[in-house]
Amino acid sequence: MIVAICVFSLFHPMELQLQPARASVVIVEQKGLQQTLEGSSIIKLRSPARAAGRNGAETEFILSIPGKIRREFHGRLEVREQDGHLLAIVRMERENAVASIVAAESPPSAPLEARKAQAVVARSFLIAARHRHDRFDFCDTTHCQFLRESPPAGSPSAKASEETRDLVLAYQGRPIAALYSANCGGKTQTLEDAGWNAEAYPYFAVECPVRGPVAGHRIGMCQEGAAQMARNGKTFREILALYFPAATIDHI
Ligand SMILES: [Zn+2]
Ligand SMILES: [Zn+2]
Repeated sequence: MIVAICVFSLFHPMELQLQPARASVVIVEQKGLQQTLEGSSIIKLRSPARAAGRNGAETEFILSIPGKIRREFHGRLEVREQDGHLLAIVRMERENAVASIVAAESPPSAPLEARKAQAVVARSFLIAARHRHDRFDFCDTTHCQFLRESPPAGSPSAKASEETRDLVLAYQGRPIAALYSANCGGKTQTLEDAGWNAEAYPYFAVECPVRGPVAGHRIGMCQEGAAQMARNGKTFREILALYFPAATIDHI
């Protein structure tokens, strides 16, 4: 499964810079013209374009907004125009997105089992909440899920997604767009508590092992609480069972 994620969405860029990464080749198509980028060549993009590897394959590229942000991605790029700025849409493999979200969303000290819980939750959201936006599937802000670069192979976030490959949270046999937030302060809340509309899953208020300042909406998994449970020896299955007591962990 390929997901289309709009990156750098907070910046509303007017111009993007694109270059190959790791000795890859990037073929750029703009206004009907094709250009091959290799080595240290860089191209500025100010209008709609597409970029991929040879024969339309995925490739590795560095995308940047000069002076603001620079990231390496693996996938294909589509640049579109909207309201006078550019949308940078990266189409990538779902598992690449899962690992990148785990790396961006996990507290820095989160142990492996907490990252595995995060991977299952992130994957469930990617599958169940697709097409959240009109022109792409997800953005890279808290509206959807944070996403930065892919973590290096063998890193805890990469391992967390590999070791939970194909596992999702499901309710009544269907994957759920599982919610999570940074710190519930000691107890999560229900949708009614939060004044939210009904979701496909009935979130519960559960006692969480963590205190501290509340950060986020307090619905679903508490990321600080999950990290604390993992430090106390709990597995990702035990962590998910606490925060999503009515859900099952299913294979896709
Ligand atoms: Zn979004
Ligand atoms: Zn908590």
